[in-house]
Amino acid sequence: MKYFSTRGGKELLSFEETVLTGLAPNGGLYIPQSIPQLPADWQTKWKDYSFVDLSVEVLSLYISPEEISRGELRALVEKSYKTFRHSDVTPLKKLDDRTYILELFHGPTFAFKDVALQLLGNLFEFFLVRRNARQLGNDNQERLTVVGATSGDTGSAAIYGLRNKANISIFILHPKGRVSPIQEAQMTTVTDPNVHNLAVKGTFDDCQDIVKSLFADQDFNKTHRLGAVNSINWARILAQTVYYFLSYFHVQSQFPSSSAVDVQLQYVVPTGNFGDVLAGFYAKRMGLPISKLIVATNANDILARFWKNGVYEKVDSSSAPVPATGAATEPAEGASDGKQAHAAGGVKETLSPAMDILVSSNFERLLWYLAYETVEVDTNAHEETKRLKAGETVNGWMKLVKSDGRVQVPSKVLELARKDFLAERVSDEQTLETIRLQFESSVSYITDPHTAVGLAAAHRVARTNSPSTIQVVLSTAHPAKFSEAVTRALSDAPSFDFERDVLPEEFKGLLERKRNVIDVEAPDVDLVKKVIERFAEPARSAIAEEGNVGNGSV
Ligand SMILES: *Cc1c(COP(=O)(O)O)cnc(C)c1O
Repeated sequence: MKYFSTRGGKELLSFEETVLTGLAPNGGLYIPQSIPQLPADWQTKWKDYSFVDLSVEVLSLYISPEEISRGELRALVEKSYKTFRHSDVTPLKKLDDRTYILELFHGPTFAFKDVALQLLGNLFEFFLVRRNARQLGNDNQERLTVVGATSGDTGSAAIYGLRNKANISIFILHPKGRVSPIQEAQMTTVTDPNVHNLAVKGTFDDCQDIVKSLFADQDFNKTHRLGAVNSINWARILAQTVYYFLSYFHVQSQFPSSSAVDVQLQYVVPTGNFGDVLAGFYAKRMGLPISKLIVATNANDILARFWKNGVYEKVDSSSAPVPATGAATEPAEGASDGKQAHAAGGVKETLSPAMDILVSSNFERLLWYLAYETVEVDTNAHEETKRLKAGETVNGWMKLVKSDGRVQVPSKVLELARKDFLAERVSDEQTLETIRLQFESSVSYITDPHTAVGLAAAHRVARTNSPSTIQVVLSTAHPAKFSEAVTRALSDAPSFDFERDVLPEEFKGLLERKRNVIDVEAPDVDLVKKVIERFAEPARSAIAEEGNVGNGSV
């Protein structure tokens, strides 16, 4: 299996190159040459498979055995999901006869991003170790320096994915004092010598700007071989397809075999950068019987607006009287949370901050399939001609988004998008209300605000569903991670007790633990460079021996 860019060109990459490259040089995202179809006997053969078994089956359809053998793949997957606290890895919980919750937060940082980042870290390490073993001597040892900015949500999952990995250093910048205490503690209590937390005196936007300048600095980038763990990395999407399969079988097992075939299955996905729900799209196109994928957004509703009118537009011009100034920035890269600084209109701060985005970087991958399937070519045109044409179309659309802040797709493209997806926007008020109602219902269950956005969208769509429709809502974070919103929603519930009902054992005492953090006294790229130069050197052993994991300041 080879991969190519959504923005066209003839370049074909191996899986390894795709994963190590991240973003394509022409600005596109990598997608597989074709979407593999499920083997004929998958329904019976995979029925009782574990998460790990299913990962091996699904991933091996996208990775040539010459690149990673089945045995190696199994070892990588086993290692990645051993860190999860639940034996199912992603267990399914029943809320009522027609609604299930797919809990994706049983990994080390209690957020769904662990599912992908635990695997990505092991893949990076596997590739680097193998490359280095093929090289003679120590001088050419390949290393990777992962740099990213976080406002709290992504940083810890990236750190836990890369901690203690051979040949990799990770530097995560966060705005000092501006991330929640729990999230700050999750990041800074990791003391592995390859992990470096930089507390920058400044804002999240400052951190993001610094990361962007580092990536743009070609010399620095080359010397340190900067890497990103973006949500656009193909391995992250691939890892996430697996829980659609696992939950499909778990839902099926709830029904007697005679009625199981009649079930219409909807997946409802709290969405920001469109990675999680895109994984569901791949599962569907592989042949998993999903009737609809429901994109649930918060007030940052670019996707909900797209499914309404076919316009992909950063700022809602129908409600904003001031037109875009052209100062809008590129989609966020690095291990960042996808928020873009300084864009006209700006990102709205909501109670579901991990979904606060202006544009959804992974949406470009869906756009490619929409372009490809509606492309107009001669009936006898070669497959490659069709593919190149789709790439040109996407390139044109993305150029318009960059220059005008918007693109309107043809109506047949929107029609096609509506076959697989529905989209709903959920306000903060509805989010709080949903948390409260679910807590007070007969199946008392506490969701985090992101999951609540999904649940609210599910309820809305359910009103027009057939009786045989089952909804699976993806739960993307543990409620303890977003204690402020949860406590606010349940402040009037007399029986609610945060410590007893929500706080996991693992979070207790976290705030008192030893910290590994470097203070950066100003939002200055040169200060950050100094830190990276000091700690990313291959000859780090002296530092490690001192037992100094990097406390200090610059
Ligand atoms: C990242 C994140 C999301 C959004 O996922 P995308 O793949 O970017 O759509 C939703 N909820 C939580 C808690 C997240 O961390």
